[in-house]
Amino acid sequence: MGLIVQKFGGSSVADADRIRNVARIITETYRRGHKVVAVLSAQGDTTDDLIAKAAEINPNASRREMDMLLSTGEQISCSLCAMAIEAMGYPVISLTGWQAGFRTNSAYGDARIKRVDVERVLTELDKNTIVIVTGFQGINKYDDITTLGRGGSDTSAVALAAVLQADLCQIFTDVDGVYTADPRHVTGARMLEEITYDEMLELATLGAQVLHNRSVEMAKRYGVNLEVLSSFSGKPGTKVKEVAKTMEKLHVSGVACDKNVARLAVVGLPDEPGIAFKIFSLMAKENVNVDIILQSIGRHNTKDISFTVGKQDMERAKQALEARKEALGFDHVDVNDAIAKVSIVGAGMIHNPGVAAKMFEALYNAAINIHMIATSEIKISVLVDLSEADRAAQVIHDRFFHEVGVQ
Ligand code: ADP
Ligand code: ASP
Ligand code: MG
Repeated sequence: MGLIVQKFGGSSVADADRIRNVARIITETYRRGHKVVAVLSAQGDTTDDLIAKAAEINPNASRREMDMLLSTGEQISCSLCAMAIEAMGYPVISLTGWQAGFRTNSAYGDARIKRVDVERVLTELDKNTIVIVTGFQGINKYDDITTLGRGGSDTSAVALAAVLQADLCQIFTDVDGVYTADPRHVTGARMLEEITYDEMLELATLGAQVLHNRSVEMAKRYGVNLEVLSSFSGKPGTKVKEVAKTMEKLHVSGVACDKNVARLAVVGLPDEPGIAFKIFSLMAKENVNVDIILQSIGRHNTKDISFTVGKQDMERAKQALEARKEALGFDHVDVNDAIAKVSIVGAGMIHNPGVAAKMFEALYNAAINIHMIATSEIKISVLVDLSEADRAAQVIHDRFFHEVGVQ
């Protein structure tokens, strides 16, 4: 007997039957003697639909009003699920983010959780009530509603699990667990029995949306026992933990693909000290997150600096640079958002140069051109054309995982 936090994603609560299915999973856990806190996402594509609705009214709506709107999706699924559990005869209460004590900073649309005041949740659990909490949302110091960024319900669940010191945090989704690549786009992707926090964090950060990357960071920091599993199949899922059994051998744990990438190239910069500093401090001032950076060799006293950003930041970054054209002394800015980043993740990569060669060979054999490369201790990323992204992920995956147990 213990305390279990269960999170259900959008497709798991998409319609009435699926809500009843979730209610069954929650009540079965409760019947086994556990205290249960369930965190729910909005139904199906609700959040996308709300974004589209806002765009019809005002494409430049303030971020505060966007959060006011987006937070409603989770409120619908939670109240409906509580009603389903009521109908089954169990004690249940649904709570919004603020009722459940989620206090965040004021970065509307991408708010960070500062703390969770769980008194109300604990009071309800003490009464033996099942608690359903809206994912993805909290309130800031002005008591205004904030949201945590797309996919943020995972982080709500892990935060509650951390503060409540839950025995387990289960992330129920529409696939059986974490795979070696997105099973919807790469054939032959294999489910992992377990994965380390660090590898999962890299995969999530590099585009594997199965977990919100901040949820993995938090799970690692607070030692939350995390399991990713299907709300449909009833099978055991993937355990995310500090040390995985397979840790000792050299291995590539997965392939990730991020299609939310844009590349800016600042062409014809003067080849002198301080240029990189000026460009990237400008990006920092504009709150633009920069990822892969490439600087060309200086030639005829000029050089180019290219870098990648999230698609949503491309225009803002371009405008900020163009406004400083004179001061920075460049020729022009070239942008391209028809690109994607494909990465492999695994422990100990830096000590095995053969891994990079194998990845590049797979791309070469498929005649896929690489635009940029970035490496770290546990990942190698390449930038390719968006139209080649799925094929690149597939051939790289084939190369590393073509036979069970062989990498
Ligand atoms: P939810 O609505 O439950 O939060 P998401 O759509 O956010 O679900 O995440 C689940 C999806 O993540 C899967 O349907 C799958 O297409 C995608 N995905 C990407 N990479 C992976 C991976 N390595 N393992 C499993 N799923 C992945
Ligand atoms: N409903 C939100 C989204 O679609 C949060 C989530 O599903 O985790 O991004
Ligand atoms: Mg998700």
